[in-house]
Amino acid sequence: QAKQQGRNRFQFFQPVKDQPDQAHKRELVRIREAIEGDELRLHVQPRVDMRSGRVVGVEALVRWEHPERGLLPPGEFLPLMEGDELLHDLDWWVMDRALRLLEDWRSAGLDLTMSLNLSACSLQDTGFVAALQEMLAQHPSIDPAHLLFEIIESEALRDIETTASVIRACAVLGVQFALDGFGNGYASLTDFRCLPAQVVKIDQTVVRDILRSRDGRNLVKGVIGIANAFQREVIAEGVESAAHGLLLMDLGCTLAQGYGIADPMAPEQLASWIKGFRPPQLWTDRPDVDWT
Ligand code: C2E
Ligand code: MG
Ligand code: MG
Repeated sequence: QAKQQGRNRFQFFQPVKDQPDQAHKRELVRIREAIEGDELRLHVQPRVDMRSGRVVGVEALVRWEHPERGLLPPGEFLPLMEGDELLHDLDWWVMDRALRLLEDWRSAGLDLTMSLNLSACSLQDTGFVAALQEMLAQHPSIDPAHLLFEIIESEALRDIETTASVIRACAVLGVQFALDGFGNGYASLTDFRCLPAQVVKIDQTVVRDILRSRDGRNLVKGVIGIANAFQREVIAEGVESAAHGLLLMDLGCTLAQGYGIADPMAPEQLASWIKGFRPPQLWTDRPDVDWT
């Protein structure tokens, strides 16, 4: 009787336990179809040098144009791909699309740097650098210095030795790296020292409250100071207003991106956006503001 009950219970629980797994597998199959079926889109968010008012580059941000659910941000599908090799396919899809865009822009006379967000799995892939080299060889008109790979700080730290050696190997090809999400609380200063990324991106959570809190300003000042001490370039993300930008310039950071400058957009819109862009008066006048 007990055995019978046990078996019944077993049969009852089995499908319940398997269900999320099955659903997850189905979602991965669907994402694979999206990659292969041309449903992914690469949007770009302009990056400006606030001091000169020039657009210096863009960050590529993937979206999924889902036939039923509309344009999905990466937060809706990247987490599902975590730990799956599909992420690797996504990275190469992004790379291919990005290099084509760079070629188009170059022939249109636009001299821009393209930031790409790289998954941790690509860093772990021993064939990554060779594959990158091959891909660059297929696009000889592109200057590798116009590519900047962004890696999330916490992911870069997962295997710091491997990350450092990939960064070094890419530097030989002329491709640069940025630590994304910097200042958001993972890297120790020792870790930072060991990662030869040429650029740091101050995390939007850190940038967000610089106007409201003196501690927030001190934190950004410190992050910029550390980056400068190591000769790393600094980019601020999450610049949501002209005032944020002005304060960042006062703190020593001139490269910025954020909704206060431009939202991510379809690449076809970029040229006309650049044509119409005028830096806010707050930046050109550079008023002396007492932020304390
Ligand atoms: P991230 O690389 O830190 O990208 C910045 C995110 O902040 C983007 O969200 C962007 O749309 C958003 N953002 C831009 N300006 C502002 C602002 O002023 N305020 C605020 N609050 N947010 C702003 P998105 O596009 O949803 O991307 C989220 C994350 O997904 C990215 O964070 C990146 O880690 C990842 N991701 C995006 N595209 C790719 C990709 O092609 N490949 C990989 N592997 N990861 C990607
Ligand atoms: Mg990024
Ligand atoms: Mg970021």
